[in-house]
Amino acid sequence: LQQMPRWDAMTWPEIQTLLAKNPLVVLATGSIEQHGPHLPLATDVLIPTGLADRTAGKLREEERRRTVLLPPLAYTYAPESNGWPGTLNLDGETLTRVAADLARELARMGVAEVLLLNGHMESQPFLWEGMRLGRDSHTRIRMVNWWDLVPASVLAAQFDDASPGWTVEHAGPVETSVLWALYPSQVRKDCLPDDPAPGRPPYRKIPLEPESLPPSGSFAPTGTASADIGDALCEAVVGQLCRLTREVL
Ligand SMILES: [Zn+2]
Repeated sequence: LQQMPRWDAMTWPEIQTLLAKNPLVVLATGSIEQHGPHLPLATDVLIPTGLADRTAGKLREEERRRTVLLPPLAYTYAPESNGWPGTLNLDGETLTRVAADLARELARMGVAEVLLLNGHMESQPFLWEGMRLGRDSHTRIRMVNWWDLVPASVLAAQFDDASPGWTVEHAGPVETSVLWALYPSQVRKDCLPDDPAPGRPPYRKIPLEPESLPPSGSFAPTGTASADIGDALCEAVVGQLCRLTREVL
């Protein structure tokens, strides 16, 4: 499988050559966060990384060579998962500074086109604010959540109109299916959780009520998940990422 070239695997002369081609620099952003008994803590990092690689595989070779994937930003902000072992967070303020420093460093390299391919909901405002603060006037920054590239019609068709919805999609059938398609060995198929979706009010609350949290850490039953569904969702996302990449290049 063709991968997106890795920033950190290159030498400085290779980076110099790459930067002269005005590349699209992609940063996968996720979390180190519990994802139920069946998905690894890095799920939200793995999904955008896998999608970037699949996108690279569909590009023409000269296009692929003008894309590059940074080391992913794994430590972010997922305090809603603090009740389970494994979740490791930065404070929002720290994350904003990390994102600002990264934007500044990319600007210092003369990078003009940056794409944040995001896999985790809660950290978005901090990432965006940091990028806004750190960028210089020559850098264009785009951010997209991969799930926003799944058309509602594709989701409805794949789940026979029975998708539990994005508000409870944490370690649920969509994430499980997508990770299954991208990294099959990472899904513990013998412990797929079957918690009922708790139903979420249209507001957020501190402190979180323990009864609003499913014991398994998965917010919706995963019995309908499959690699085939994941593949169909990935295809839809990758098609849009290819278009976006070509627009930028
Ligand atoms: Zn997730």
